[in-house]
Amino acid sequence: MSYDVLVIGGGAAGLAASVFLGRAGQGRRILLIEKAPRVGKKLMATGNGTCNLTNVKASAADYHGAPRLAQAALEAFSVAETIDFFTSIGVDCAVREDGKVYPLSEQAGAVLDALRLEAQALGVEIICDCKVTALKKQGNDWCVMCDNAKYVAEQVLVTVGGAAAPALGGSAEGYRLLTDLGCEKKPLFPSIVQIRTATDYVRAVKGIRVDAALTLRMDGRVAAQSRGEVLFADYGLSGPAVMFISRPVADWERQKRGEMVACLDLLPDWDSDTLCARIRQRSELKGRTLEDLLTGLLHKRVGQTILRVAEVLPLTREVETLTEDELKRITRTIKNWKLPVTGTQGFGGAQVTAGGIAATEIDPSTFAIKRLPGVYAAGEVLDVDGDCGGFNLQFAWSSAYVAAQAIQNNR
Ligand SMILES: Cc1cc2nc3c(=O)[nH]c(=O)nc-3n(C[C@H](O)[C@H](O)[C@H](O)COP(=O)(O)OP(=O)(O)OC[C@H]3O[C@@H](n4cnc5c(N)ncnc54)[C@H](O)[C@@H]3O)c2cc1C
Repeated sequence: MSYDVLVIGGGAAGLAASVFLGRAGQGRRILLIEKAPRVGKKLMATGNGTCNLTNVKASAADYHGAPRLAQAALEAFSVAETIDFFTSIGVDCAVREDGKVYPLSEQAGAVLDALRLEAQALGVEIICDCKVTALKKQGNDWCVMCDNAKYVAEQVLVTVGGAAAPALGGSAEGYRLLTDLGCEKKPLFPSIVQIRTATDYVRAVKGIRVDAALTLRMDGRVAAQSRGEVLFADYGLSGPAVMFISRPVADWERQKRGEMVACLDLLPDWDSDTLCARIRQRSELKGRTLEDLLTGLLHKRVGQTILRVAEVLPLTREVETLTEDELKRITRTIKNWKLPVTGTQGFGGAQVTAGGIAATEIDPSTFAIKRLPGVYAAGEVLDVDGDCGGFNLQFAWSSAYVAAQAIQNNR
């Protein structure tokens, strides 16, 4: 069957592009092809189901891989325009103090429904359960080969996403649509992902959340820092502060060079002297054993684990038996608990894919693939990944907009 435009992949970028194309090209036949039974499965899971759809602070500095592509996209379709766009399709937005933007209803489903309904209202056809397996040139057109069908169009937009979160449809296979036609792909690795560490002590505090400062050290040098919620897990560390600085860990895991250590400061608002003095005071409390030395200062189980890490044992000892050296060791461990990093939880736990179709393949003013006239790409399939905070969806919307405009102008 023949269409004017085929959009491959019904995720954030593909759905937004369908709306932009539908609005711009009245009367044009547009088909969105999705391999899953429904469009937008990953979008539904964003922001823990609340969809952090953008960030008013977004700039090229929030992106990695090829930030110049992100910059070009943001310049063409800004955060303000994104918020106006969502308002125009019925999604009123709320901007939080930290700059993150969510639908007022805090439902990712609202974002998905609004995009899907708008695309359908504009006459975009949507086919699900249809996996595209190859793109082939056919005269001036492109033939899109699927498992059970084939479609022909003058222009094709590839929005197949990345390899992260396979349970939500992520797959490395989509890149092949373009690499089979000669496009270069930068190596893939997971980002915004949980970190695996030595687990000897972490397992004992599994399930506990702390507000901590986290420093990643690579061969002793600071590689990344963050502050916020850290969740202890049986494999290592999770939580927003961890996900935020996970990219260098995944990059290191890929290259396997040097040693990486995660250093936790469990009381970042206390300086070491004040903390040591406070622990000394606590050691003067009557009738306590080490088991409760830190209870009330830290989560009880975390406090006991700190003593084990600092080798201040046994926990049945009276607190007044603490020596000055032991007090210092406890203080040092609270301020700088070193956990050797062993890797990440991989694409299975990741929110986003670093790497992808190389920026050199893309014209940043159109998101056209330079070597394949008539083919465009947008979203996570490209070598652009953003930090945690709404930046990845913003790139999906902005890059989809640029590609859709270019497709419209190139009819
Ligand atoms: C758990 C989780 C939470 C997240 N939360 C946020 C957040 O709050 N804010 C934020 O900015 N980002 C978030 N992200 C990242 C964000 O979801 C992605 O960056 C974004 O969805 C990328 O959009 P995309 O359209 O490029 O890819 P996707 O949304 O992944 O869409 C790609 C679509 O293409 C389809 N497809 C793939 N191959 C084929 C094929 N061969 N044929 C047909 N269809 C195909 C897929 O099934 C999929 O529906 C989160 C990610 C995860 C996993």
